[in-house]
Amino acid sequence: MPSISQALSKVDGLVDRVANRLIWRFAAKPRDVTTDVPLVSFTFDDVPDSALLNGAAILESHGVRGTFYIAGGLSGRVESDRTLISPEGCAELAGRGHEIGCHTYAHEKIRRLGSAGLAADLDRNAGYLKQSGVDATTTNFAFPYNAAWPLARRELGRRYRTCRAAGESINRTSVDPLMLKAVEIRQPEAEAKALTGWIDDVVGRPGWLVFFTHDIAARPTPYGCTPETFEHLVGYAVAKGCVVLPVERVLDRLGW
Ligand SMILES: [Zn+2]
Repeated sequence: MPSISQALSKVDGLVDRVANRLIWRFAAKPRDVTTDVPLVSFTFDDVPDSALLNGAAILESHGVRGTFYIAGGLSGRVESDRTLISPEGCAELAGRGHEIGCHTYAHEKIRRLGSAGLAADLDRNAGYLKQSGVDATTTNFAFPYNAAWPLARRELGRRYRTCRAAGESINRTSVDPLMLKAVEIRQPEAEAKALTGWIDDVVGRPGWLVFFTHDIAARPTPYGCTPETFEHLVGYAVAKGCVVLPVERVLDRLGW
């Protein structure tokens, strides 16, 4: 028999899925993705230090950059299978030309923070990044656990140009900027490698494909992949003629 906590977490996940679907369905103020060339963004959440060590290095070796959504509250945390990036690591990413995005400070589902709590949390993350030596203000956001919340849209819309969820889809034609869709790079490794299918898709019919992942490590967590597979995906996108850019640079290009 499932325990009460298992049952509650099922309900919790259901609330997330329903909220996301409602927002996607009834979103106001959509923007157009008008592009003749396939656009691809590689993004990282949390962010583990291996995303800097391996992920950023692989992107740079192809002459491209990514977006790293940092949650300051995770700073330097050592977990059993990953270590989170330090303040110095954040500054290094920015210094090497990558975009730093916001992923909340507390890394909580935003509906748990409440309105006042959300504003305070986002201010705290901005303060953390500034103290870390990241000069630019963050202009893009990714939802912790990819869980959006209708009541948070006003506050998020006031602060950010886009918010990214998951959604396993390419952003094409009419898109809600506060609910960008993205495709996850995760285990198993064979499936991560086969994500080149999404790149073929966006090459065949141009739009904006956003990937998201976490660690890039020889022994990845379930939510990351190996350096070999990440190299394979980035190399494939570049070889197929995709324009690979951080989120903020895509927005400039689209004129949003
Ligand atoms: Zn996260």
